[in-house]
Amino acid sequence: MGERQLLMIPGPTAVPQSILLAGARPMINHRGPEFKAALEACTEGLKRVFRTKDEIFILTASGTGGLEAAIVNFLSPGDHVLSVSIGVFGNRFASIASTYGAEVEKLDFEMGQAADPAKIKARLDADTGKEIKAVLVTHNETSTGVTNDLAAIGKVVREHGALLLVDGISSLVAIDFRMDEWGVDVMVAGSQKAFMVPPGLVFVAVSKRAAEAMKTAEMPRFYFDLQRARQYLEQGQTPWTPAVPQVLQLQAALQILEREGLDNCHARHARLAGAVRAGVKALGLKLLADESVASNAVTAVRVPEGVKVADLRGLMLDKYDVVLAGGQQSLKEKIFRIGHLGLVYETDIIACLGCLGLALKELGWDCDPGAGAAAAVQALRG
Ligand SMILES: *Cc1c(COP(=O)(O)O)cnc(C)c1O
Repeated sequence: MGERQLLMIPGPTAVPQSILLAGARPMINHRGPEFKAALEACTEGLKRVFRTKDEIFILTASGTGGLEAAIVNFLSPGDHVLSVSIGVFGNRFASIASTYGAEVEKLDFEMGQAADPAKIKARLDADTGKEIKAVLVTHNETSTGVTNDLAAIGKVVREHGALLLVDGISSLVAIDFRMDEWGVDVMVAGSQKAFMVPPGLVFVAVSKRAAEAMKTAEMPRFYFDLQRARQYLEQGQTPWTPAVPQVLQLQAALQILEREGLDNCHARHARLAGAVRAGVKALGLKLLADESVASNAVTAVRVPEGVKVADLRGLMLDKYDVVLAGGQQSLKEKIFRIGHLGLVYETDIIACLGCLGLALKELGWDCDPGAGAAAAVQALRG
């Protein structure tokens, strides 16, 4: 029928009605008192979500713009950077750094695996001359559904002294994160993932160490210049015209999160992700990631023998109005992904797995079509 879709992709995510309405009002002056109050409330609210006492900047851009800001404000051309990559988004972060002239050394792990903190430590220990200026890592790799152990990685990077720059675009709000405690220097998160806000904003948190590095960093920057953003933030403004509705929506989203409580929100994501994994396995499918490192925000599932990803996603969309994500790049034909971050309820998970069973059966996969939803229900009973 197409009048209502169940959006089960890892961003953009479903937006609650109260957040939609927060943006549905006559435009306001982005240099007026009302916007100032909203920007300041959002900045303070985000500090609680990032668990940091340091600075946070709200930029108008997609997540990738925030990654660019995380590179150009803290590094100089020729800087040696260690890029720890476990998938497509880790590779993107590395590409941005090399585009701006960093000397990027890659430490790649197989798709579906997490980064091994011991291997990172071994590489950093070997760097006795302290050539490595920064370590780039993805907290939650959306392309493979794997979450890195950022606390452990933070520990080894702090021992070395390099800056730790993190893509947390799909992890914040869905997965536990502690900026100050874990020693992260720059953390990036986007509005359209677990924050439940439409696309358009990206948040960049900056530690004191990173703020120090910003003073001497020489990569070219203009739109994403955080020193300029800081000058304007002191006046309750942004340097350029921001996505005003999204800032008002972010304020509403942060209120929802305060009511739920961050720990409860993480627990909800963990519980629902567990139900998804149980359901998928009960349909006879295999997960790409090992369960010990599987993401609570997105699940990557190997498409079964004889079924094409495009056919499965097509049928799910056309017949059941359930939107699933495909695989990216080398995983394109091999996996599909179920996003379960942000505005997600038990109803969504059970419905998604029920329809997945029906679609798989229709495409010839030998399974009990109700087994996925049943296993999810069992998992949710606890
Ligand atoms: C979604 C996502 C991005 C990129 O976001 P855009 O908004 O499309 O630029 C980057 N990294 C991760 C881990 C993501 O999940």
